[in-house]
Amino acid sequence: MEIRSVGIVGAGQMGNGIAHVFSLSGYDVLLNDVNPEMLGAALATIDRNMERQVGRGKITADEKASAMARIKTSSVLAELGPLDLVIEAATEKEEIKNKIFEGLAPHLGPQTILTSNTSSISITRLASRTDRPEKFMGFHFMNPVPVMQLVELIRGIATDRETYDSLMHVVKTLGKTAANAEDFPAFIVNRILVPMINEAVYTLYEGVGSVKSIDEAMKLGANHPMGPLELADFIGLDTCLAIMNVLHDGLGDSKYRPCPLLSKYVEAGWLGRKTKRGFYDYRGDEPVPTR
Ligand code: NAD
Repeated sequence: MEIRSVGIVGAGQMGNGIAHVFSLSGYDVLLNDVNPEMLGAALATIDRNMERQVGRGKITADEKASAMARIKTSSVLAELGPLDLVIEAATEKEEIKNKIFEGLAPHLGPQTILTSNTSSISITRLASRTDRPEKFMGFHFMNPVPVMQLVELIRGIATDRETYDSLMHVVKTLGKTAANAEDFPAFIVNRILVPMINEAVYTLYEGVGSVKSIDEAMKLGANHPMGPLELADFIGLDTCLAIMNVLHDGLGDSKYRPCPLLSKYVEAGWLGRKTKRGFYDYRGDEPVPTR
């Protein structure tokens, strides 16, 4: 099935990045969020990020203008019904995602492929709550979407071949590379990455190092481009905690228990860059460690 139009539910950091790459690749995009303010903010972010690409000579000003014109926004979920593909990129909470799929179901055409950008939740379980488990897949983009090359494709137990082939083709048209992951908690990238971040938070919690020394140690000692705490702020501490909870619940191994300090930051609403405070405070000119 040829996909030309894409609906994106959730206009946060992932939703706006996904809209950015799809519109630049010629797809018509309809971006949805329950919070109308997020829609305006997403358009402003996409505009700013594309302008940066124009400045670097990666795209032309004309390509930017046509891509921006292909992105429409709506806070009415039903308007996504006639589109070919829907990508759910809302908050990492299973009940929120289930509600979105329930809200969409009566409006979707029979051919629409339904996907979730979830970082960790079972695709088979999400699919089972929809009217089309065979046309449901995990479609996991990496942050920041315009920069990162990988997309994880996760088939649920019922996903059919045609759906998989269609999404594989979409990934190619975006100029990205697909990796297949089996449907187990957090798939490949986050199964490895997020427990490392959680361990960095334990290292801070136990006083082995400060925010600065932990990040510097991993940058200079393990050649990571970002320190783990800086990366956690970039991902969002609520998302990191949600992924640890899915790993802990889904695999039942105590090695995945979320660090209490990670929970405390989330309880404070210090979620990282998106709320301007996390392991660093981003409200001034330079990020300042908060511990
Ligand atoms: P975010 O907090 O930046 O954005 C989430 C958005 O979802 C918000 O704008 C919120 O208003 C919206 N939302 C909440 N409930 C909604 C509803 N019922 N209908 C429509 N919109 C709704 O989060 P994010 O970092 O963009 O993450 C979104 C998804 O992408 C999560 O599933 C996350 O696990 C996944 N993901 C995140 C990353 C990352 O690095 N942050 C990477 C890959 C995948």
